[in-house]
Amino acid sequence: MKLLEKGSPMYIGGEWVYSQAIIEVRDPQDNSLVDTVPDATVEDLLRAIDKAVEGVDVAATMTIKERMSVLQLAASYIENRTEDYAVIIAREASKTIREARKEVARAVETLRLSAEEARRVQGETINFDQATGGEDRVGYYYRFPIGLIAAITPFNDPLNLVAHKVGPAIAGGNAIIVKPATMTPLSALKLAEAFEAAGLPSKVLTVITGRGSVIGDTLVRHPAVRMVSFTGGLDAGAHIAKIAGLKKLGMELGSNSPVIIMDDANLEEAVRATVSGAFWAAGQNCLGVQRVFVQKSVYDAFLGRMVEKTKQVLIGDKLSEETGIGPLITEKEAKRIEEWVTEAVEQGAHIEVGGRREGNYYLPTILTNVPPDVRVAKEEVFGPVVSIFPVEDLQEAIQLANSVNYGLQAGIFTKDLDSAFKAIHQLHVGGVNVNDSSDYRLDAMPFGGVKGSGLGREGVKFALQEMTEPKVVCFKLEK
Ligand code: NAD
Repeated sequence: MKLLEKGSPMYIGGEWVYSQAIIEVRDPQDNSLVDTVPDATVEDLLRAIDKAVEGVDVAATMTIKERMSVLQLAASYIENRTEDYAVIIAREASKTIREARKEVARAVETLRLSAEEARRVQGETINFDQATGGEDRVGYYYRFPIGLIAAITPFNDPLNLVAHKVGPAIAGGNAIIVKPATMTPLSALKLAEAFEAAGLPSKVLTVITGRGSVIGDTLVRHPAVRMVSFTGGLDAGAHIAKIAGLKKLGMELGSNSPVIIMDDANLEEAVRATVSGAFWAAGQNCLGVQRVFVQKSVYDAFLGRMVEKTKQVLIGDKLSEETGIGPLITEKEAKRIEEWVTEAVEQGAHIEVGGRREGNYYLPTILTNVPPDVRVAKEEVFGPVVSIFPVEDLQEAIQLANSVNYGLQAGIFTKDLDSAFKAIHQLHVGGVNVNDSSDYRLDAMPFGGVKGSGLGREGVKFALQEMTEPKVVCFKLEK
């Protein structure tokens, strides 16, 4: 892949392809041009789908050993070029260079996990004789690829969230078309480069660059696509679910994650984790801490330390090693956040720290006294804004945490086992971190949400289950 000489081509069924129209990829920090990519048309997409349909058979006939080898080689290719990959993430997206390096390391791990899990694509025997009529039958099931998968991915983790779809798809013997976020297509193209270098047969993987509004509906509706694996916002996810037709859906959507601080918590650790969880990637993180419920007796102490620690977060140049947080992905997003904070303040919220926009940047912000009906309290902010609420007890905290239309992950800080288990059982979310914020994820764990946060689970082993289907074999024996 060449940067800027001629712009980057897209990767269609094993070939690097240019097109007439282009999309400019701009650095959100200073609007400088990073590169250009093709602005694919519906015709480009239909050609890509034809090739990917041929890729379905190619992928399915790769042996497990071949799948593992390709995945391992692609992982090593990226690992050996960590800095190149990190710079691309940091330039096209809004992560700092330190955050970007962590994402590269995680993407390497995701592909290695995919190689490992490929080994375990297997079924089990079935005891047909457990029911009348099955006495003379033996059999088993094993897992087959589902075929062609369409992966649609967001801007905020432009490499690892693509790896979370491509890795399991290849491990399961599927062909896959990736449509990365319009603003951050370069990391996905660099991932394709790694798979090409690793010897992935052509037509198994396509990365088509283009706008969701132009090619999205055709990709999602196409009958050759057997699964749409989507990560992104609730609105786009709901639209896709509505038009997809009869196919599998994986929906990894947003949230406004809660963290509960009980009066027996280790406050220092709770503050450290909450600040990190609220402001990582400038809050553009599906697991980001957005709502904190603090037991009244420790509220003042917690808030004071939060404000102090937040003031130490350094905003600035993404490529500087010192920078803590970078810009929002666009000025439009920064302005949206400004508008949401203004709305909250007009309804009575207090700004404890931050609360100001500077171009594409929004200062790390803590709000208190936030009314329950404003957008920062009930929608997904997806920016560096956290609201802190005093609560009487755990019951009130759980009730407020559950009072929204999202449920991805939650955190609770407590030393009390009963409180921890009560939260684990009663919080309506896909995961509960005890003594950590909502913002902890291992790439091997089942990951996904309830309510408006999604459908199905990723995390390599679990995505692999979604991307394969059991086929039953039953032998009727001669008496
Ligand atoms: P987005 O929903 O705007 O876009 C996501 C992707 O969908 C992009 O590739 C976009 O081009 C495409 N798209 C948009 N409209 C489409 C359509 N009509 N048809 C087909 N494709 C379409 O999201 P974003 O702003 O890129 O990312 C932020 C969102 O992603 C946040 O809500 C965040 O919480 C969520 N997210 C969720 C997870 C998770 O694992 N649960 C992880 C990261 C981000």
